Amino acid sequence: MLYKRSSALFAEAQKVIPGGVNSPVRAFKAVGGTPIFVKEAKGAYLYDEDDNRLIDYIASWGPLILGHAYEPVVEAVIEKAKKGTSFGMPTAIETEIAELAVSLVPNIDKIRFVNSGTEACMSAVRLARGYTKKDKIIKFAGCYHGHSDSFLIQAGSGAVTFGAPNSPGVTQGTAKDTLLASYNDLDNVKELIQVNKGEIAAIIIEPVAGNMGCIVPKEGFLEGLRSLCDAHGILLIFDEVMTGFRLALGGAQELLNIKADIVCFGKVIGGGLPVGAFAANNEIMDYLAPNGPVYQAGTLSGNPLAMSAGLAMLSALKNKPEVFSSLSKKAAYLHEGISKVLTKEGIEHRINRLGSMISVHFTNRDVVDFDSAASGNNPIFNTYFHGMLKEGVYLPPSAFESYFLNDALSFEDIDFTIKALEKIAPTLK
Ligand code: PLP
Repeated sequence: MLYKRSSALFAEAQKVIPGGVNSPVRAFKAVGGTPIFVKEAKGAYLYDEDDNRLIDYIASWGPLILGHAYEPVVEAVIEKAKKGTSFGMPTAIETEIAELAVSLVPNIDKIRFVNSGTEACMSAVRLARGYTKKDKIIKFAGCYHGHSDSFLIQAGSGAVTFGAPNSPGVTQGTAKDTLLASYNDLDNVKELIQVNKGEIAAIIIEPVAGNMGCIVPKEGFLEGLRSLCDAHGILLIFDEVMTGFRLALGGAQELLNIKADIVCFGKVIGGGLPVGAFAANNEIMDYLAPNGPVYQAGTLSGNPLAMSAGLAMLSALKNKPEVFSSLSKKAAYLHEGISKVLTKEGIEHRINRLGSMISVHFTNRDVVDFDSAASGNNPIFNTYFHGMLKEGVYLPPSAFESYFLNDALSFEDIDFTIKALEKIAPTLK
């Protein structure tokens, strides 16, 4: 495959945009090579500026669960745009999507819309601190909750990919209020609660982690967190930015049957436009301005374009609930295919999967936390990524990211992917 035009565009972009990109993982710094510049996309395929066709396993990092340029979403946005893009005043469509979201997600009465997953998580933590009148939070190494200061402490995703899980610019004062625990290690959390008795406002977690590859919670882990929170007056925040409306209509709460106190959304809820949201019961949500004392706001929050995309997406998912099991079947098929090829070639690996989230780790360790995930961040991964790309398959350009399958992806596409792996597998030894 040729990347002549992508290379030229990247060189041009680097002159005026730091690193040539508006979000670090796009720069391919971890895996090397030229980032691909996309011209357009439809269904399961990306078409780049050099006219290569790529099967897309990322779907814009999750939002496009029904594939690129999904007609009902596109149509809804076009129609809305003709009537004005933002008013900074209430609109009926905000209530419409809020009612739908509240009806689909367990344990929430009210939802507030923002413009990104970062804003959702940042606001959820402020709300939890205001509500509980405590300052500290517990987060898990390798979990990523956006780029706000409190979360850039051993963060996963792009932050760790670039060796900056703790970013300069985050003050020590902020960092000291974020306590770090190990994913899937309940004793570790118990210890932190013991040492910081009465000081912890919230535990924030990706209920199924997707920012260190895909990591599934061990049996009893989330239940254990729930009990600890109940026993110590701590709020449990589920960051469902990845898992919300992806693992099930009601997200991880529904799939795993665990109740969170505050739930954060992003990605799918915006149908591909910039949307985030956070939600909880009436008592907690009424602690927010203008009803309560915790301040949070946004010029473009709930704007009609974003809301129309989100509403079209959630409505489509509600009308097509079989999509979740269908995606899960495709992920299982991919899992089996990859596993067969790598096993036949004698290449050490672990594959993690839940629903439509899946990740391949080139390691001999079971990947259950950040430390074991890091063992798969090695040159084999880079060879795998570039080998598959050359064959026309676009996988996450980092060992610390999950794949996100989309409904437009066919079994033929997956067969193509497995064949591509068969071709490149000998290079992985
Ligand atoms: N939380 C999780 C679990 C995420 O995966 C992300 C982004 O990947 C965020 C929060 C931040 O969302 P955004 O990039 O929309 O700010």
